[in-house]
Amino acid sequence: MRWEADVPLAGLTRLAVGGATPRLARPDSPSSLREVVRGLEGIAFRVLGGGANTLVSDAGVGEPVLILEGEFDRLELSEEEMQAGAATPIPALVNAARHAGREGYVFLEAVPGTVGGALRMNAGSAETGLWDRVVWVTAMTPEGETVRVTSEEARPRYRGIGVPEEWVFLGGAFAAPPGDPGRIKDAHRERRRTKVETQVYELPSCGSTWKNPGGPYGAAWEIVERVGMRGARRGSAVITERHANFIVNLGGATAADILGLMVETRRRAYEELGVSLEPEIRLWGFTDDELRAVGAKA
Ligand SMILES: Cc1cc2nc3c(=O)[nH]c(=O)nc-3n(C[C@H](O)[C@H](O)[C@H](O)COP(=O)(O)OP(=O)(O)OC[C@H]3O[C@@H](n4cnc5c(N)ncnc54)[C@H](O)[C@@H]3O)c2cc1C
Repeated sequence: MRWEADVPLAGLTRLAVGGATPRLARPDSPSSLREVVRGLEGIAFRVLGGGANTLVSDAGVGEPVLILEGEFDRLELSEEEMQAGAATPIPALVNAARHAGREGYVFLEAVPGTVGGALRMNAGSAETGLWDRVVWVTAMTPEGETVRVTSEEARPRYRGIGVPEEWVFLGGAFAAPPGDPGRIKDAHRERRRTKVETQVYELPSCGSTWKNPGGPYGAAWEIVERVGMRGARRGSAVITERHANFIVNLGGATAADILGLMVETRRRAYEELGVSLEPEIRLWGFTDDELRAVGAKA
């Protein structure tokens, strides 16, 4: 497997900011992935999907990065299920369900990224995550072993799972029973309309910056608004007026701009409301102090 050296990550993430990785590989089959992870001999690495939930620091990352492609981008429908590889775009999965009149994928409408990223994030709505549809998933351990994971074993929760961070998802089978095609199409259309109207699709972002914390102050966007950060700007990064949980890159923003907005929002939420916000987005390559300042695990 060929490694590319000093690869900038900005162009591989939706926010389009951040530095490089010292090396990047693109395994296109389970056997080439096994060769890569075994060749790393225990060195920590990172996996990037569509980059729709990842903020890379301006300094870049120290670890090698893997991007799955080739055989990992596949989708098959059977009578009651869809099987998808980890590199399959989430919209391809959702569109297949909509076109074939399959139940259960309205909640993922207009969510960008890949199936692998959606499994790691348990992506979805406030009530439903992708793991609610999992029949089984396969993952590769850093030792190169392939393991099967059921939803019960993954212990899914709101925007997270209990599967070790070092495991690479390869793909899986997702429940997709047939339903009423007309009703399903309408439900998808309505969900997409609401998302596009209330969220921001025309500028680079990672979607919701913070997880909804629960508690008396409502959703994360309401907290951001309450502490006066809606519309706040730093460099070319802005907390959008339309959705106060979205930070967008107006063009030329740095990761430091985005982090600065996050630090200020979190400080105010804690000092003014006693709320500890936790990032929904994944932060790569930041120092332990920077991670602590936004409530991410150092
Ligand atoms: C406009 C917009 C709207 C959005 N709406 C929603 C929404 O409604 N609901 C929601 O949940 N999210 C939403 N998001 C966030 C994002 O789309 C999801 O988190 C999505 O699942 C990210 O997938 P990705 O492949 O881009 O992940 P990446 O950003 O590439 O990676 C995210 C994490 O997953 C890990 N990962 C990626 N692939 C694998 C793999 N194969 N194996 C193991 N780990 C892997 C990465 O290491 C990283 O930790 C939105 C984003 C945008 C920009």
